[in-house]
Amino acid sequence: MAAARTRAGICAILGLPNAGKSTLMNQVLGLRLMAVSPKPQTTRNRVLGVKNREVDGDAAQIVFLDTPGAQRGPGALRQYMREQTLAAAGDCDVALLLLDAADPVQRAPGTLGEGPAAALDELTGSRRAPIVLALNKIDRVAKPALLPALEAWGATGRFQELVPISALKGDGLDRLEAAVARLLPEGPHLYPEDTVTDRAERFIAAELVREQVFRQLGDELPYAAAVVVEEFRERPDRGDVVISAVVHVERESQKGIVVGKGGQRIKAIGTAGRAAIAQLLGCPVHLLLHVKVSPNWSSGAGGLRDMGYE
Ligand code: GDP
Ligand code: MG
Repeated sequence: MAAARTRAGICAILGLPNAGKSTLMNQVLGLRLMAVSPKPQTTRNRVLGVKNREVDGDAAQIVFLDTPGAQRGPGALRQYMREQTLAAAGDCDVALLLLDAADPVQRAPGTLGEGPAAALDELTGSRRAPIVLALNKIDRVAKPALLPALEAWGATGRFQELVPISALKGDGLDRLEAAVARLLPEGPHLYPEDTVTDRAERFIAAELVREQVFRQLGDELPYAAAVVVEEFRERPDRGDVVISAVVHVERESQKGIVVGKGGQRIKAIGTAGRAAIAQLLGCPVHLLLHVKVSPNWSSGAGGLRDMGYE
């Protein structure tokens, strides 16, 4: 019997906001690692997740990078997200382009508007790493619409593999993982076998709280909130964790929205956030939330740095 080879490399998950990148990452890792939200742009930092699996008898390690979606537009935050995405595309061994097949614009090549199309060109055009295309949300697309979409994307000849998936339901993910794993270079694994993420638990806790903020008031508070965990204290004697986090908003009026009438909103956010963090950590959690007005946190580079977005 031939000795098992090892493969390893970085797979950047690229795509427009809301394509389902974070959902895919969470499903593949079997963990709620990333904030998922129906509002675009809830993922602000690159996050790495490690998946070990066998492919064709080889022991493969895929290091997934969840990147903020390709975005153009004014403001430091958007610019920052754009740079992160391009940096991820440049560094990776395999690029995984995720498109929302339920969106008629993304379903077929050629109908993408100028902005998104240009961003995709930038992402896929000059690079040498192989690209796998995943058409996501097929649970929301009727077969007669899906088949021509697959054919049209296949005919572009830009992709090593094309896999229809539903990140939400888990359909097609095994095939997708295998397709990515086969394209990884041969070599030693990059992380110990039991590594799932490079992110500290306190970062994940902040993501889970932010997910609740967006879930519960995304319409009223678009892009204007950041969550920073200020204290993350394990109490081994009690077997629990005490977390204190600050929800930063830009204006006094937004603070009122987050706090809600008689503190109802912030209480609901805290309850749901605490439950999600407790599930992740597997122990009881005490979550203390505060709301703070930090003017213009999203528009200046200094503000971004203070919020830990670097
Ligand atoms: P991201 O911005 O690319 O990270 O997208 P998210 O992972 O945050 O997902 C955006 C929205 O699409 C969320 O409401 C998800 O629940 C939803 N979504 C993601 N994948 C699927 C899928 O396969 N099917 C359906 N129906 N919805 C999905
Ligand atoms: Mg995301």
